[in-house]
Amino acid sequence: MEGGPSDRAWPLLLLLVAAVLVPTAGLLWFMGAAMRNERLAVKQKLEQAYRPALTEAAHAVRSYWAERRSVLERAVDQPPARAFATVVRSGAARAAVVLGESGQVLYPAAEPDLAAATLHPALAEAARLEFALDQPRIAAIAYRQVAERAGSPDIRAQALMGQARCLLKVADTAEAIRLLVVELQQPDLRRATGTNGRLIAPAALLRALQVMEPGYPSYRQTLDEMVLQLRDYDNWPMSSAERRFLMRRVLEIAPQVTTFDTLEAEELASEFVARHLAAPEGAGLAPSAMPGTWQFTIANSPVVALLERAQTLRELEAAVAQALPHQLHIAFVRPGVVVGEEPFLLTTLDESMPGWRLAAYLRGEDPLASRAEHQVATYLWTGLLLVGLVAGTVLLVGRAAFHQMKLARLKNDFIATVTHELKTPLCSMRVLVDTLLEGNYRDQRQVREYLELMARENERLSRLIDNFLSFSRMERNKQAFSFRPVEPRELVEAAADIVRERFEAVGCAFTAEANGELPAVEADRDALVTVLLNLLDNAYKYSTDDKRIALRAFADDGEICFQVQDNGIGMRRRAVRRAFDRFYQVDQSLSRSVGGCGLGLSIVKFIVEAHGGSVDVESRPGEGSTFTVRLPAAQGNGARRGRG
Ligand code: ADP
Repeated sequence: MEGGPSDRAWPLLLLLVAAVLVPTAGLLWFMGAAMRNERLAVKQKLEQAYRPALTEAAHAVRSYWAERRSVLERAVDQPPARAFATVVRSGAARAAVVLGESGQVLYPAAEPDLAAATLHPALAEAARLEFALDQPRIAAIAYRQVAERAGSPDIRAQALMGQARCLLKVADTAEAIRLLVVELQQPDLRRATGTNGRLIAPAALLRALQVMEPGYPSYRQTLDEMVLQLRDYDNWPMSSAERRFLMRRVLEIAPQVTTFDTLEAEELASEFVARHLAAPEGAGLAPSAMPGTWQFTIANSPVVALLERAQTLRELEAAVAQALPHQLHIAFVRPGVVVGEEPFLLTTLDESMPGWRLAAYLRGEDPLASRAEHQVATYLWTGLLLVGLVAGTVLLVGRAAFHQMKLARLKNDFIATVTHELKTPLCSMRVLVDTLLEGNYRDQRQVREYLELMARENERLSRLIDNFLSFSRMERNKQAFSFRPVEPRELVEAAADIVRERFEAVGCAFTAEANGELPAVEADRDALVTVLLNLLDNAYKYSTDDKRIALRAFADDGEICFQVQDNGIGMRRRAVRRAFDRFYQVDQSLSRSVGGCGLGLSIVKFIVEAHGGSVDVESRPGEGSTFTVRLPAAQGNGARRGRG
């Protein structure tokens, strides 16, 4: 009964596969959803925990700008140069630019146009003597006279400068220095300017310093006075260009003893003005026209604070870092920039940094990821376990279902076989009886022949029914055996007597031999005869022409063996392994034609094993088969009783 699963098995197979796949898919979906939820829940918890820290950080940013704002507020009402110095010296900005009402630059303002400058007529004669006629000595006297007569501080100061210049040319250094550091430094000349619009007093000090040797008695004092003037944004209203020029010269003369805290800012601011300056639109932080620089303004203030971008960011980060727990690090996100790596938290900053955002990231290992990983592992194992359970259950159910289907099929086949098996001898008997009843026979010999045929069919029918009954009892486990010591020889002879006539009738070479000395076996005599008859019957059925069948009993290794050997069609190895299975038939059509229902060998096995023995077969296709039944010899003379 070989063959693949029938068509009916496919829907069942699909159903079983679906029974595994559907819950597996559901489980995977559920695991995915659960993991997403878990991640969300952890994220929410962490957000709740860290949100106040971020608010605190935003607050630190606000304080940073509030400081700068208050500095700019302080500068609102100050004169431009002072406003510049206030902002720069507070450290609130790298530099500052002060604007007028209409947005024009007040500080650092552009220098006046020098080409338009003309010499005052009172000085013209002295200047002619000095430059055109090259008479410094006379020019010095002429300058002195102008100085003494002049009413305007500008002309007086210009004349004194001219005198000092001429004295230097004639090498009257001491008098020249006195003019420069004493007379020209009188308070009433403090705001005096030259034809180029520049303050004369500081220029006079520079000239004196250039002339003096460092060892000169008033050198140090002069240097100090010079530095004082250049650092003073209140009383010495120099233009930025002039102040920068003088500062640089002083630094050249006395690099070790002097520094100017506003020089860098002055340079940055004038570079900024020279490049470009658009009046800022609205207050707050904005990119400036100068690379690497930001500008910061507040409402109603003429001051634009210039900030170095990198430094400002560093300062902001440092301010924010103090407010943050070490697990978080932050980044400032410019207006309009798309945040690359998704931040853990994001917050907007107020009007001090319009459009800016503060992004917070978790430092080190992502706790969300590690938590999620842990969850994945848990869900995965649970999932695998459940899928395994489902698969196991489905497998068991499937096996049971397939088994049932197979049994149902076997039962159907069995019924078909039984019907056929019963019908065949009945039909033959009926034909024979009808022939006899109708008197269709030649003589008494033929009558006898018919009757013998009927007897044989009858016998076959009886054996068949016996087998069915044995099987049925075996199925219900009701096979009852009555054990007693039996001579092997007696069993061999009983079986041989039953088959001999049938075998020899068709010219089959049948031999039966049993050693009379063999020890008895403890057995149910009829059951063992059935065993031998079944084996002999098969040997007969599955041998073709020139049948040679041998039945023998012998002792081997303390056991009693019964052997049935034939020269029939034999069996393949696979068939040998299954020959003792219920309903198994190697070739169904052959079995049908020779008569059989696949029960004979399973009954043999059942009976032999009930006797504590075993049965095996050696067989090769085309060469015949040898079935050997091994039974334990009965112990002593006594017999085992009452088993089964
Ligand atoms: P069946 O009633 O069909 O003979 P059995 O259980 O007696 O059933 O045997 C099972 C199958 O084993 C048979 O269908 C046959 O194919 C094979 N078989 C049994 N005995 C022999 C034998 N002596 N030679 C070859 N094949 C055999």
